[in-house]
Amino acid sequence: MSMRIGHGYDSHEFKLGVPLVIGGVKLEHTHGLAGHSDGDVLLHAITDALLGAVAAGDIGTFFPPSDKRWKGADSVIFLEEAMRQIEIAGFRVVNIDMTLILAAPKIVPHAEKLRARVAELLKIIPSCVGIKAKTPEGTGTDNAAIAHAVVLLESIPLETLLEEDEACVCVGEDEDF
Ligand code: MG
Repeated sequence: MSMRIGHGYDSHEFKLGVPLVIGGVKLEHTHGLAGHSDGDVLLHAITDALLGAVAAGDIGTFFPPSDKRWKGADSVIFLEEAMRQIEIAGFRVVNIDMTLILAAPKIVPHAEKLRARVAELLKIIPSCVGIKAKTPEGTGTDNAAIAHAVVLLESIPLETLLEEDEACVCVGEDEDF
């Protein structure tokens, strides 16, 4: 079995009057995050961590901000493409650890919901999803949300791949030519 590690980082500026979406979860707040997509800083960091782990470039490689198709896009689309890339490379997620740095809102009351959503998207259980939130003390970044994500991948066991292959063969054999 081989393993890979990936790190992702992102930051977005707060903007008054737009919805705040972090980790695929909509949070009540006066400000949302500005960006070409829905500004989901955490899903962007996770997407880069996954792509980085299999050396498949970064979020901009697949979804250039110059492309109008991704204006206001749900960032789940980006993460799902990254999951597809790691599966093509023969890997699956073991666990993830994340740190959010933002002045407000408080993340603790929403942490379980965020963990559950990220676990669902990464096809792992919530106990394999770590999330921590820090305030940006002394950094002068109160008007931004910053996210770091570190992800560990393991190669998909050969027997799992063989089972999938056998399932494909059976479908073919059942067909009457
Ligand atoms: Mg971003």
